[in-house]
Amino acid sequence: PYDGPPAAEIIRKRSEFLSPALFHFYKKPLNVVAGKMQYLFDETGRRYLDAFAGIATVCCGHCHPEIINAIINQTKKLQHSTVVYLNHAIVDFAEALASKMPGDLKVVFFTNSGTEANELAMLIARLYTGCQDIVSLRNAYHGNAAGTMGATAQSNYKFNVVQSGVHHALNPDQYRGVFGSDGEKYAKDVQEIIDFGTSGHVAGFISEAIQGVGGILELAPGYLPAVYKIIKKAGGLCIADEVQSGFARTGSHFWGFEAHGVVPDIVTMAKGIGNGIPIGAVVTTPEIAQVLTRRNYFNTFGGNPVCTAGAHAVLKVLEKEKLQENALIVGSYLKDRLKVLQEKHEIIGDVRGRGLMLGVELVTDRKLKTPAIVEILHAMEEMKEIGVLVGKGGFYGNVFRITPPLCFTKDDADFLVDAMDLAMSKL
Ligand code: PMP
Repeated sequence: PYDGPPAAEIIRKRSEFLSPALFHFYKKPLNVVAGKMQYLFDETGRRYLDAFAGIATVCCGHCHPEIINAIINQTKKLQHSTVVYLNHAIVDFAEALASKMPGDLKVVFFTNSGTEANELAMLIARLYTGCQDIVSLRNAYHGNAAGTMGATAQSNYKFNVVQSGVHHALNPDQYRGVFGSDGEKYAKDVQEIIDFGTSGHVAGFISEAIQGVGGILELAPGYLPAVYKIIKKAGGLCIADEVQSGFARTGSHFWGFEAHGVVPDIVTMAKGIGNGIPIGAVVTTPEIAQVLTRRNYFNTFGGNPVCTAGAHAVLKVLEKEKLQENALIVGSYLKDRLKVLQEKHEIIGDVRGRGLMLGVELVTDRKLKTPAIVEILHAMEEMKEIGVLVGKGGFYGNVFRITPPLCFTKDDADFLVDAMDLAMSKL
């Protein structure tokens, strides 16, 4: 039984003591008091199917017992010291993580978040190349510190940050983009940015394989190979932001970039890597990693034994429970069912994504693609009443983001689609 304060008191304290910029989903916000695998529970004990998983973060399921045990066991032994001493937890996990990487990507820098990982990746690219210019994609989200906020390209998430040396390229958006699914055409914009906006040399290019915050947009096929070639020719490094699309979520591959047949120079990750504990990482080649020996790069908590022991357990659970395969099977099934739902409801303009990283874009007019901004709120509210939690995103806020824990089942998928069907019928 719940022995905490009532929701009203939490709301009052939130508004008095927390950031005035905080917002919450739902008219009557959900008071989540517990989580177990793909479920969340409110203070009355009501169970909700969690198809958002803390924004693609809880990959193995809420409070997975093996991950909890790894965290507890390490916490009892040693919580923190500093990297100037030895401890096996950090090297064990670094080795395991490196084994999941293609090519010569094997040197790991640990951070505490995705923002920090991307800041470090951009720093490394700038040091390695001696150039400043970085190309990122419009509609991308890469973090909220100075550099990453610059690379982020959605006005919703940008304050008046100084963004010298960042260029935002045309987004290879297969739904709204001018060139449809022709990735190579969009890639030409990157060449033009380099030709007309830089000295001809750049530090690098950063992108997600599937834009998460941007509304589950999978980059048009052919785009990444073409852009990676252009960037390499301009002397730059290619950074893959796998904060959301990594860690088996896309089902077909462990990393999102693998579906595009490219090998990045630097890979960044967070969220899924820790199943809910704060950890991020940058992985690069031994040669590129050398640039950080020029000065001291120091991070107090990055790679601490508790987080690395927990993250190591995540990797083991992903493998033991074959969660990548499950993401592929259940994700494909769910996507097929959503496509059928699209035939029934005019308001569904697009169904997209890969594995258990799916998006459903709502529009009031399929031809004009007018974002259904109000309707999505009603549908979300209705789905919550039925007991299903989904996320929301995209530049216009009209895209359902479906990123459940990877232990999601076909029954869960059926429940989700039935709930969405009912919610849309009531619009
Ligand atoms: N990159 C991507 C693709 C993300 O989705 C996010 C977070 N939404 C970040 C980076 C930043 O991660 P964090 O919030 O851990 O700083």
